[in-house]
Amino acid sequence: MRTSKWMFTAALLVSVSAAAQQPADSQNSAPPNASAATSAPANAPSQTQASQPHASAPSAPPPTPSALPQPTTMDQVVDRFIEREHGLMKALATRTPVVETYLQNLTADPQLGPVPSEDHYFLGRLDMGETVDRKDYLKDQDKGMQTRLMGGFNKLFKVEYQPIGFSWMVYADRTDFDRSHYDFHYIRREFLGDVRCLVFDVTPKKGSGRGRFLGRLWVEDQDFNIVRLNGTYYPAPRNSYFFHMDSWRLNLIPGYWVPAYIYSEEGDFSAGVKNKIAFKAQTRIWGYDLKKEGKDDELTQIRVDSVKDESATTQDASPLQAERVWQQQAEDNVVERLTSAGLLAPEGDVDHILQTVVNNLEVTNNIDLPRPVRTRVLLTAPLETFSVGNTIVISRGLIDVLPDEASLAAVLSHELAHIVLGHNLGSKYAFNDRMLFSDDSTYNNLGFKHIPEEETAADKKAIELLNNSPYAQKLDNVGLFFKALQARAPQLNALLTTHLGNPLAEGGTINRLTALATKGPALDNNKLDQVAALPLGGRVKINPWDDKAEMVKTAPVAITSARDKMPFEVTPFYPRLARYGSGNAPATAPTTAANSPSGN
Ligand SMILES: [Zn+2]
Repeated sequence: MRTSKWMFTAALLVSVSAAAQQPADSQNSAPPNASAATSAPANAPSQTQASQPHASAPSAPPPTPSALPQPTTMDQVVDRFIEREHGLMKALATRTPVVETYLQNLTADPQLGPVPSEDHYFLGRLDMGETVDRKDYLKDQDKGMQTRLMGGFNKLFKVEYQPIGFSWMVYADRTDFDRSHYDFHYIRREFLGDVRCLVFDVTPKKGSGRGRFLGRLWVEDQDFNIVRLNGTYYPAPRNSYFFHMDSWRLNLIPGYWVPAYIYSEEGDFSAGVKNKIAFKAQTRIWGYDLKKEGKDDELTQIRVDSVKDESATTQDASPLQAERVWQQQAEDNVVERLTSAGLLAPEGDVDHILQTVVNNLEVTNNIDLPRPVRTRVLLTAPLETFSVGNTIVISRGLIDVLPDEASLAAVLSHELAHIVLGHNLGSKYAFNDRMLFSDDSTYNNLGFKHIPEEETAADKKAIELLNNSPYAQKLDNVGLFFKALQARAPQLNALLTTHLGNPLAEGGTINRLTALATKGPALDNNKLDQVAALPLGGRVKINPWDDKAEMVKTAPVAITSARDKMPFEVTPFYPRLARYGSGNAPATAPTTAANSPSGN
C-alpha cells in the first residue's frame, strides 16, 4: 500500500561519493549495508551471514544425534567429520537445488589490475543424489568455449568450461571420503565468523587415483560438520587441470551445514607468466527446500461450505473489472510459478525497500492505480527487470551493482512506466495450462519482453516520473551508473543477457534510459570518491534453504585505490558463519524501509 508521503530508504540512502570520502569509522549508526565504500575490497562483498531461517521441522532432514560422546582425540574428530560428511550426503540426496555460476575471464589492465574481458553464465538444478548431476535452465550455454579447463571428472579432455565443474566442490569427495584414500593433518583452531573450527589439511594417499581432494577443511567443533573446503583436485589428467575452489556451507537447518557458495579463481598476472588462463567465478546454490508437491496438501483444505459467496454486495463483473481480475490471475500465476521454480524470492525484507522507492515515485507523480504495485526479487545475477501485471521484478545482480537509491529508482521507474502506460504483457498466463512446464524449461515458457515502441515510451515516461520525484536532484549519480555500465558492457555480455525481460544493453551498447547516460560528470577511475557501480554480491544475500532475500550488512571499508572499485566484478565469498538459531547474529534485525527513519 502506498503512503501519502515519500521517504528515502535508510538502507540505500547513503550517497556513495559522500561515503567514500569519509573514514570508515565515521559512518553513523544507520544500517551500514549500502554504501559503495562498504562493499569494495575482496573481503566485503559477500558478508553473507547465515541468516536465521524459519525452516520448519517437517521440511528439514532429521537433526544430528547430538547425544554422541564428544571426541577426545584428533583421530576421533577425523572419524566424526567423515561420518558427518556421509550423513550430509545422505540428508541432501533427494534435494535438487538451483545452482548458478557466473564467470568472468580476466585480462590485465595497467591501472585497474585484472579486469573482465568476457563472461559466462550457467544456471541449472543440481541433483544431489549419487552423481551430483546437473540439469541446465539455459540451453546451448557457452558451448565451444575453447579453454584447457577441467570441470568435472567425466570428459577428461574436453576443452571447455563444464558447469558441473564449478559445483563439484559441494563435497570433498563424493565416493571415497575416508581414511583409506586420504591423510588428515590437524593444523590449529580458528574462528570463522562466530563459529570455532578445527582446521585440517587433507592429502590423497599415494595411488588413490586421479582427481582426489587436496586442500584444507574447516570443521566446526560442536557437531563436527565440515563448514568450509579450500583447495583443488589432484592429480589432474595430462593436458588438463582442475581449478581451485573455496567452498562455504551455512548452518541453515538444525544439525547440518549445507553447501551455499563456491568461489573459483585462476590466473597469474606476474611478469613473464605464459599461462594465459585467468578467470574468477562465483557459484551460488539455493532452492534446497523448493516445494513442488504442495498441490496435494491443498486438496485436503478445500472447504465445501465456502463455495457460496454470502456477501450482500455480490455483483457481476463489468468488462473492465473482468479484464483486471484476469490480469491479476495471470500475474499471480507467473509469480507463483517463478517462485516454485526457484527463480523468485518469496516476499520479504528487500521488497519493503523496493516498494518504498516505487511509492516515492508514485506519490510525487500523483499516480493512483486500481491495485497497488508489488515488487519481487529475481534470485539470479544477470542485470534485468521486468513487470507482469502490477508486479515489478528486479534481479539480485542488478540490485547488487546499483550505487545508490536514485539509481534503483531509475531502473524501477522504467517498469512502473510500463504499468502506468498499461503495457501489460502477461494476460496469456491466466490460462493455467501455460504454467505446466518443467522448472528447467522456465525460460522457454515465460517471457516479458516489450516491443521497441513500448520500450521507448516507457523510457520517456520514466524520465518524466524521475524528474517529478525526490530523485530528480540525484540523476547525475544515475548518469554515472549508466556510463560505468556502458564502459563495461562490451565485456559483460552474459551479465547483460536477460532471460525474461528486455535487456539493458544489446551488442555492447546501453539501450535503457539512454537520456540519463548523458547526465553527470565523466567517468574517472582516479577519483576515489566517484563510485559509479558496485561489485556483485554486495547488497542482497539469499538464504539457500528457503530462498528468502535480505540486505547484506557490511561494515564500511574505505576505497584506497582505483582497483578497489571493481564495478560489476566477481569477488571471493567470505560469509560470516553463525550457528543455526544463534541469537548473536547481527542479521537478525532486518533492515526495512518500514523501520527506518524517513526523509533523513
Ligand atoms: Zn521495458
